[in-house]
Amino acid sequence: MKAAVLEAVGSPLVLAELAIDEPEPDEVLLRVAAAGVCHSDHNLYVGNLPGALPLVLGHEVSGVVERVGSNVGGLRVGDRVVTCPSGFCGRCRWCMSGHLHLCLDKNRTRLDGHQPRLTRDGEPVTPFVGLGGFAEQMLVHHSSVATVPAELPLDLAALLGCAVITGFGSVLNTARVRPGQTVAVIGCGGVGLNVVQAARYVGASRIIAVDRLSAKLARASAFGATDVVDAGATDPVQVVRELTGGGVDHAFEVVGRGTTIEQAFGMLGLRGTATVVGVARPDDRVTIPALALLSEKRLQGGQMGSSRFPLDVALLARLYLDGRIQLDALVSERIGLDDADTALRTMNDSTGARSVITFPGVLQ
Ligand SMILES: [Zn+2]
Ligand SMILES: [Zn+2]
Repeated sequence: MKAAVLEAVGSPLVLAELAIDEPEPDEVLLRVAAAGVCHSDHNLYVGNLPGALPLVLGHEVSGVVERVGSNVGGLRVGDRVVTCPSGFCGRCRWCMSGHLHLCLDKNRTRLDGHQPRLTRDGEPVTPFVGLGGFAEQMLVHHSSVATVPAELPLDLAALLGCAVITGFGSVLNTARVRPGQTVAVIGCGGVGLNVVQAARYVGASRIIAVDRLSAKLARASAFGATDVVDAGATDPVQVVRELTGGGVDHAFEVVGRGTTIEQAFGMLGLRGTATVVGVARPDDRVTIPALALLSEKRLQGGQMGSSRFPLDVALLARLYLDGRIQLDALVSERIGLDDADTALRTMNDSTGARSVITFPGVLQ
């Protein structure tokens, strides 16, 4: 099967023919329908985060089940699914306490000594976070997939697996924003837009979108932002504090940089909470005024929207089908697998929300 392979950081993805193994008892073989291009893929592509090369990127994926392993219950050939980087074991203390996204054994790799899931000319190729969606097929652990209703278009469904679940989960699960509270969102890409629409969904009274690109701010307004702040033209901390008479109840950082995390904390009012959603470089640092903590302000992080993947995917799919959240406007372009490299290379200059790789023959 064909896949876009990252052979070296800084070099373009290469389209290559890979061998994909048969499912082991706990695995599922998927035919990929669509894969979103996410900033986490970009982090590997440019070397901000390490990965075992050669690597197949792609983790925000939808597809159709082609084969199931002998231990897999609840999934059948032909089921439509989305994938998540947070597979789970169901047995560790985090799974047992309902925090599936923090599972200590995410089942991203096979056991030592087993045949690799993907090979090229006999050499192993790593599927990113156990998924590897920039490919025609994926072989994954069954806990990394959740089924979606047949009436949900698969190119939109893919976005549920990362951008939507992370944005919504950050608001609903990590920060637990309540009706009437005020919210600021720094960074209005695919995940940030979902923080904005989740804040609207829970009834936030003020949703202030902060970005440097006017096209992204315009889109944030369409997703429910009540105010927009151009961070390139003004000091966003000062503007947000002025707009809210002293600071917001919740600030979300969806960029992944120490400086913007400090800005998020600076935007808080008394008892405010800053939630870090963006993925920063491992060597990045944050400095906050120690005295500000005495105002009962909090700085916290979240991972994948602190989500319980199968439950939250089902909820989000239902909300879309009921017309209560937007997915269509998140897709700014549909591209082929051979355009994945261009989408990654131009990501930082892009004003779009999400580029989605589609395999048209599988979408129906
Ligand atoms: Zn992602
Ligand atoms: Zn676990």
